[in-house]
Amino acid sequence: MAREVLAAAGGAWYLGPMRWNTLAVHAGDGIDPVTGALDGPLVHSSAFAFETAADAAAQFAGEREGFIYGRWRNPTTEAFEAKVAKLEGADAAVATASGMAAIFGALAAHLEAGGHVLAPRGIYAETAKLLRTHFERFGVRFDFVDMTDLAAVEAALGADTRVVWCETPANPTLAVYDIAALAERARSVGAALVVDSTFATPYHQHPLELGADLVVHSATKGIGGHGDALGGVAVGSREKVDAVRSVAVRAAGGVLAPHNAWMLSRGLRTLGLRMERSSANAQELAQRLEADERIARVFYPGLASHPQHSVAARQMKRGFGALVAFELVGGLPAGRRAYDAFEVLTRAVSLGDLRTLVSHPASTTHFSMPAAQRAAAGISDGLFRMSVGVEDVEDLWEDLDRAMGAAARP
Ligand code: PLP
Repeated sequence: MAREVLAAAGGAWYLGPMRWNTLAVHAGDGIDPVTGALDGPLVHSSAFAFETAADAAAQFAGEREGFIYGRWRNPTTEAFEAKVAKLEGADAAVATASGMAAIFGALAAHLEAGGHVLAPRGIYAETAKLLRTHFERFGVRFDFVDMTDLAAVEAALGADTRVVWCETPANPTLAVYDIAALAERARSVGAALVVDSTFATPYHQHPLELGADLVVHSATKGIGGHGDALGGVAVGSREKVDAVRSVAVRAAGGVLAPHNAWMLSRGLRTLGLRMERSSANAQELAQRLEADERIARVFYPGLASHPQHSVAARQMKRGFGALVAFELVGGLPAGRRAYDAFEVLTRAVSLGDLRTLVSHPASTTHFSMPAAQRAAAGISDGLFRMSVGVEDVEDLWEDLDRAMGAAARP
């Protein structure tokens, strides 16, 4: 294909329909038509030159396409946005400085004083805190319900409900919520369904196909995949995405740095490969843990024993993700001994990394929460959350076995 034709085609040699992994490699950031570079350019510039006064005026009037200023548009960031949009089957995507900026934008774009948000009890703690400590000050009401109970959802919905918030699979107990059923309930009162799909990544779940209005991701996690770049993204119709961009990026300044956009695009190209391996490892480890008498309970959507396994099997694709939670027998002292004993699994928060990361909520993220409150949230003293990486599964199992052995030896 001649360079001029390639330029007109946005850098893509092949314009036919592509499957998911082919899109992950090629969509959004094709060959540079000017230089022929295979990799999209990393543009750091915070401002973009005008050719003439008339050019500047035409760009400001929206009569001519242009980049103008880095908080408004950046070509490297747009390449990342285009790739995520394609992978989620969406019209548009907006990249943000972190997952929380996308979450803030998705809520703020839909809410005004007097508006109501319905969210699940099991939810990323910072999202719950955003509603409780910030949106509440602006007159927003919210309720947390058990979203596996659709009758409870229906009872809590009102004419003032603007957003039904759903995080699935959810943190840290891996509860799975029925996206299609929630979309239907949200529509019945004119509310938008927003799904935080971080745990599933765009490889395992496409909430827009199931009726969601907007999808958000902490791109810091599986999308980036290497634990070295913070970022977030909101995906949906052009109108919804523009509303998020307006408040979270243009007004609040939660813009994704171009370097991070470039790294996150690179991460996306191997998302399928990484998730295939991570979720196969996770399934194998979940099965072995479930069969082990030193473990009280395992939470993994891919296990037949998971209370929402049939919902997960219907709405997740190509496996059930990298996150496994399990409860060790022996309470807090045994939990601490096991946590100290890991040698291959890395003691860290975060998830979706190449490395297997393990967190012990009772001695870390939920340490300051009173024990009774922790128990009510389903976080027992022996609960571990493991984000399974791409290592050899036998090394991961040997490390888990060593830690379970240490837990049993006071
Ligand atoms: N959503 C979920 C499910 C998360 O686990 C996290 C972070 O752990 C976030 C959102 C926030 O993302 P970020 O840390 O990129 O702001």
